[in-house]
Amino acid sequence: MSGTLAARLSAFMPDLRGRLLANEPLAPFTWLRVGGPAEVLFTPADTDDLAHFLKHLPAEIPVTMIGLASNMIIRDGGIPGVVIRFSPRAFGQIGVEEDNRIRAGAFAADRKVAMEAAEAGIGGLEFLFGIPGSIGGALRMNAGTRSNTNPEIEGETRERFVEATAVTRAGAIIRLTPEDMRFVYRGCGVPADTIFTEAVFQGFARDPDEIRAINARVQEHRERDQETKVRTAGSTFKNPPGHSSWRLIRDSGGLDLRVGQAEMSRKHANFLIAHDGATAADIEGLGEAIIALVREKQGVTLEWEVKRVGISAELARNG
Ligand SMILES: Cc1cc2nc3c(=O)[nH]c(=O)nc-3n(C[C@H](O)[C@H](O)[C@H](O)COP(=O)(O)OP(=O)(O)OC[C@H]3O[C@@H](n4cnc5c(N)ncnc54)[C@H](O)[C@@H]3O)c2cc1C
Repeated sequence: MSGTLAARLSAFMPDLRGRLLANEPLAPFTWLRVGGPAEVLFTPADTDDLAHFLKHLPAEIPVTMIGLASNMIIRDGGIPGVVIRFSPRAFGQIGVEEDNRIRAGAFAADRKVAMEAAEAGIGGLEFLFGIPGSIGGALRMNAGTRSNTNPEIEGETRERFVEATAVTRAGAIIRLTPEDMRFVYRGCGVPADTIFTEAVFQGFARDPDEIRAINARVQEHRERDQETKVRTAGSTFKNPPGHSSWRLIRDSGGLDLRVGQAEMSRKHANFLIAHDGATAADIEGLGEAIIALVREKQGVTLEWEVKRVGISAELARNG
């Protein structure tokens, strides 16, 4: 079936310039290093190629976009249909523009964007330095950094956003304004099947040495308060209004839970850790057990911040 879908799509779209691969493993692309393969993995050559592909892809075939997969659990049975992942060559460019603006491809790493901004003396994007995702993921998630102790390292994507280019599921290339994005806390209102290809951000003039010093403090903050050297997906749950998820989890006894090879971090109780041998089912099962525990002990229902995609191993086996 997998080979058939990739072959069918190739035959159907002879002018495609990007690469189609059947049954391609995805776990190596993810921060958690778990999950099954993509039925078809498409790497577009550029924005026009992506638009051409989506325009001709039959509407019933599901499409899943992945960025640097730092906020994602791919389930063990993999992802049916088409998974799209960009190449850094086609979508990783970063350019400095007039008036302290930065234009970045959707697959540019947030950290690299922050470093380019520092070199150019553009302040305001330091918060991106510590976020291990791509610009596409930052737009989708309205990625941001908070600190109780140091406001200079704080920031959110929506505060710096000027405009984005995207391709709709029907294959139209569109421009998105801040109003179109409808940013909310850790999300945006753009349809889930619209794919961002590029964005422009507004900064302000700041001395490069000062920016580099702030970036270093972003790094210190991360190393002190968060997990940086383990397999994780960052904050597992959004903070419910008026609460911190890490505190709810800790106070409910969530640090004593373990499912298979997955447990919550003692350094940051809202970070989930995948130990060697963990499966996506362990990780998701732990998250669901935490939700049930916090609801029982505190009467608050946590909402996943991490995106869960694909199907279970059992479903993949049984069709
Ligand atoms: C150690 C660690 C620390 C973290 N710290 C923070 C933090 O401080 N703040 C924070 O906000 N997040 C944090 N995260 C989570 C994560 O880095 C962010 O959510 C990031 O923005 C995700 O980007 P990504 O490229 O990895 O997206 P992915 O995880 O690949 O995808 C996330 C979502 O974005 C969508 N997406 C990705 N690219 C595109 C695109 N081009 N077009 C449309 N949709 C797209 C995906 O479909 C998915 O729905 C952390 C994660 C880790 C592992």
